[in-house]
Amino acid sequence: MTTITRFAPSPTGNLHVGNIRTALHNWMLARKSGGRFVLRIDDTDAARSREEFVEAIRADLAWLGLAADGEERQSERLALYQSAFDALLDSGRIYPAYETAQELELKRKIQLGRGLPPIYDRAALQLSDADRAAKEAEGVAPHWRFKLDHDEPIEWDDGVRGKQKFDPAQLSDPVIRRADGSWLYMLPSAVDDLDMGVTQVLRGEDHVTNTAVQIQMFTALIAAQYPAAKIPAFAHEALLVGKEGKLSKRLGSLGCDSFRERDIEPEAIVALLARLGTSQPVEPIADRQVLVDTFDLSTFGRAPAKFDDTELDRLNAAIVHQMDYEAVRHRLPEGMDEAGWHAVRPNLSHVSEAGNWWKLVTGPIEQPEFSSEDRAFLSQAADLLEWGDDPWRSLTAALKEASGRKGKPLFLPLRQALTGMDHGPDMGELLPLIGEEEARARLCRAAA
Ligand code: GLU
Repeated sequence: MTTITRFAPSPTGNLHVGNIRTALHNWMLARKSGGRFVLRIDDTDAARSREEFVEAIRADLAWLGLAADGEERQSERLALYQSAFDALLDSGRIYPAYETAQELELKRKIQLGRGLPPIYDRAALQLSDADRAAKEAEGVAPHWRFKLDHDEPIEWDDGVRGKQKFDPAQLSDPVIRRADGSWLYMLPSAVDDLDMGVTQVLRGEDHVTNTAVQIQMFTALIAAQYPAAKIPAFAHEALLVGKEGKLSKRLGSLGCDSFRERDIEPEAIVALLARLGTSQPVEPIADRQVLVDTFDLSTFGRAPAKFDDTELDRLNAAIVHQMDYEAVRHRLPEGMDEAGWHAVRPNLSHVSEAGNWWKLVTGPIEQPEFSSEDRAFLSQAADLLEWGDDPWRSLTAALKEASGRKGKPLFLPLRQALTGMDHGPDMGELLPLIGEEEARARLCRAAA
């Protein structure tokens, strides 16, 4: 059986780091078993769904390298939901209810006041045909609830949480459709999972109760309409929290736009989110295949996963240090070649900093004031400069001999005269890039 996973965002906003993590894990799960990863746009809420968010979701997934193998849109599948609705209505699993939002709220308050859980009391099931006809005559259109079967506990073996058991009598019959005919999330999602042959539903633990309800929907739908389908396996991952351990608002708005602004590599985000909250070490692994091969739901912990920006920055630097010239050349300053990239790469936290270091090569540079001893030393350096395979090595060897200097007094004035800086990329790599003529000119200028 081919593994089919899905990522099902609602296009009511941009993806945030929690969504990205869910998308990544579903992508990895599919890749690991040579399966399919489907993007499902949950756009049944016409009022809040926006096309620009659909486009942003696609663009973000592409930027992250998590392109989907297929895409479905719920707004184009309404006929399917209608037919599932009709079948469930026929089999007695859906019933109309007429309470207003205020009435429901009042019931909830009374229950809570009595110390009871706010479970829907199923009053609508007590209505007679005449009661319903009277409501309709008053012009009250019903909303629709799915009738949970109270006979048996709902159980599943969760890929992260292990054995789960729910008493359906402790759950409200969920509203699946509004009075205006529009769909709530629960039923369309269950229909799609069966219809699209989803084998693994991997999502956040905020959906655990939904899963209990949807398992009954799956069973009812299979009986009524999808005899060949199977209930998918479920896994619910612990939520992502900020460093302080709280569900932070900031994480809810932290998305690819801000990562791009900060010049964070998608590979750094992927390496972090792939293993955050698992027992596997978070490492700067740029090779996706390694992450895919080691992806394992059984390593996921139950504790909230802590997202830490400094960890992301650290990973980013380590990823940048491994990046090949070909992968970054279009982002580098004009004229910066492969040797230039290799020279500056170890000094970067972000690719965008390459330009600052490249200026040391292209100039102009600003040199500090040198003491008269250093000026004499630098003048000696200009005389001894010779161009061979490794000009820095031969220059420093000759100067050491001629001046008797070693260590910092030998190297620092040279670096300052040649680059204007006290620190920076390896001089052995920089000097050939600066070139003989320019290097001699800089030494002479410093010596003057
Ligand atoms: N659209 C739902 C959400 O964003 C999908 C949940 C699911 O994975 O089934 O929460």
